[in-house]
Amino acid sequence: MNIDKYTDAIKNCRFCFMCRHLSGIGNVTFTEADTPRVRASMIYGVTMDPEKMADKDFIDTLYRSDLSRACCFHCVNHYDENSLNIAMRTDLVEKGLAPDYAKAIAENLKSSSNWEISGAAEVLYFTDRYTLQTGTVAPAFDAIMKKAGINYATVSGGCIGRALKVLGFAQDAKAAAEKFVSTVKAAGAKTLVVSNPAAYELLKNDCAEFGIEVPFAVMHTSEYILSLGLKAAKAAGDIYYLESDYLKNYNDNLPFPRQLLAAVNANIKPFGTNNEESYTCGEGAVLLPEIDETLVAKLAAYIADRADDPANDKIVVASPYTKIFLSKYTKLNVATLEEVVAEVL
Ligand code: SF4
Repeated sequence: MNIDKYTDAIKNCRFCFMCRHLSGIGNVTFTEADTPRVRASMIYGVTMDPEKMADKDFIDTLYRSDLSRACCFHCVNHYDENSLNIAMRTDLVEKGLAPDYAKAIAENLKSSSNWEISGAAEVLYFTDRYTLQTGTVAPAFDAIMKKAGINYATVSGGCIGRALKVLGFAQDAKAAAEKFVSTVKAAGAKTLVVSNPAAYELLKNDCAEFGIEVPFAVMHTSEYILSLGLKAAKAAGDIYYLESDYLKNYNDNLPFPRQLLAAVNANIKPFGTNNEESYTCGEGAVLLPEIDETLVAKLAAYIADRADDPANDKIVVASPYTKIFLSKYTKLNVATLEEVVAEVL
C-alpha cells in the first residue's frame, strides 16, 4: 500500500498531540478527528483491519484535511502526516473506495488538462485557473514585464496534475504532468514562471517523484520578479505577509517572497498569534472549496479574526487561491506579491 512509505508517521503521530494547533481544519471544526494524531490513529487502525478503509466517516475526515503541511514542517522530526494523508487517499482510489465527490472532481480535472500557448518567447507565464480567477494577478505580472521591457508568452488551461495528486488520483496526475511538460517543452520555453504555488510544487517536486524530467527552469513569480532587479519608485510600507503552504511548508521556506518584499521596502509586521499556523484558507488542499466550501469560509473567518485592524491592514499573499477566498469571505484588503510590486514600480 502507498501508506507503507509513511510507517514512521503512522507510528509516531498517533501518540502525539504536539502540532494539534497547526491543523487548520481542527481549529475551525473543534473536532479531535481533524488533527494529525487522530488521522494517524485511524490509519493505524486500517493497517490492523483493512475493512476500516471503507468507513465513510474515516474517508470524509481524510478528504477535509487542509493539507497545509504546517505540522510536518514544524515537527521536530518532520514526520510527514500530510503525505501519509495523500498516500491513504491514493490507496482508497486504487481500491475503488474514493468517495463519489472526489471521483466527480477528478473527472472534471482530467477533462480540463489541455493548454493553449499564446505568443512565442523564452519566458512562458502559466495563467492557471486560480490566477485567472483573481482577474488582477496576470495584469499585475504583465505591468511588471512591460516595465522590465521583457517579451513573454503565456500558457493557459486546466489541471497540470497537482489537484489530481492531492485527491489521490496519482496515475492521472502523472499523465497530466507529462502532457503539460511536453506542451511547454514544445513551445521552446527556457523558463516557466508560475504565480500559483501549487503549480510550483507539481513542477518542482511531484514531477521528480513521478520520474518526469522538466527540461526548463521553473520559477515562482517572486523569484523571477526579484531576478529582474527592478527599482521601486516608492516603498510598499507596512504589510502583513501570509505565507503560502506550498512555498513555505512544502518547499523548505522558499526565501524569495520575503526577499521580494524587502526589495520593495515592505515592512512585514507579525500576523496572528504565532508564525507556524497556516493562514491560506486551505491552499494546500487545492480543492477544498469543491469538497466543502463551508470549511473554506470558516478558515477565512478564522484569519480575519486575527487581523489587527481588518478595515485598514494590508494583507499580502503569494497564492492567488488565498486571495480569492479571503476576498470572498472577509473584508480584508488582500493583494498578491505581483500586485504589490506592480503598484510601487
Ligand atoms: S507531525 Fe510531529 S508534532 Fe505532529 S503529530 Fe506527528 S510527531 Fe507529533
